[in-house]
Amino acid sequence: MPELPEVEIVARLIGGAVTGARVASTLAPGVNALKTFDPPLHALDGSCLAGVSRRGKHLLVQSDAGLVLLIHLMSAGRLQLFGRRAGLRDRTSRVLIRLEDGRELRLREFGTKQAAWAKLLRAGELEADEALATLGPEAWPDPPPFLELLGGEARPLHSLLRDQRVIAGIGRSWVDEILWEARLSPYKRGADLTAEEASALRDATVARLGGAIDAYAATLSLPLPDRLPLPLKVHRHEGEPCPRCGTRLEAVHFEDYVIAYCPACQTDGRVLKDRRLSRLLK
Ligand SMILES: [Zn+2]
Repeated sequence: MPELPEVEIVARLIGGAVTGARVASTLAPGVNALKTFDPPLHALDGSCLAGVSRRGKHLLVQSDAGLVLLIHLMSAGRLQLFGRRAGLRDRTSRVLIRLEDGRELRLREFGTKQAAWAKLLRAGELEADEALATLGPEAWPDPPPFLELLGGEARPLHSLLRDQRVIAGIGRSWVDEILWEARLSPYKRGADLTAEEASALRDATVARLGGAIDAYAATLSLPLPDRLPLPLKVHRHEGEPCPRCGTRLEAVHFEDYVIAYCPACQTDGRVLKDRRLSRLLK
């Protein structure tokens, strides 16, 4: 599940390796992955890649032909660079950018869902694309004050921080880490934040996302593994002792995600109702 830190390190490492390389040919084996047809993907052929950057959880592969391939990895997509071309039987291939030097930039997707997508846009049309136009401010490195951002919102922090229109880059993994770092309940409403809590939450956001990027920068290199080793302390650690206070970490299970938290650090000792259990009892 790539979020801001994972997408950022992919942009840095792959951008550093492909900038200046010339595109030999392109191919979109994923039937549903390429969401645009004008300009055609082949408009990239013959151009040079001009860099890879990140916006929220999106990747932007720039070409000197004035085109940008905007990519969203969703939950199971990966952008990887290979020394040679993919076999035609590689079912994970969605969009292939073959470079003249023999390497291949590959948008892949694991699992059965086809959710990852790419759009080839003219640079001048990029900002108007709804995927970017609706994004809130970047969660890292310098988001606006959180009292301003979240203070008027009745929704709980866990949902607000994952809403890309409110703040861009945070998903189901890092939201747990950030709320734990700030010692705030996932269910606290934005409107109930004190100035001090809002400031602590902003600090925690910048620190945890930045810390993850630093950890990746120190340990990862190309070729990137299929699964990045997420430096998580709380998310996916339910049942284990809280790294801060030793209390058992609890979790609330939803259909497609899990909220993990420390009752002692975040909810005044209260163990939140498990939605999975309440469904069974209906
Ligand atoms: Zn704790």
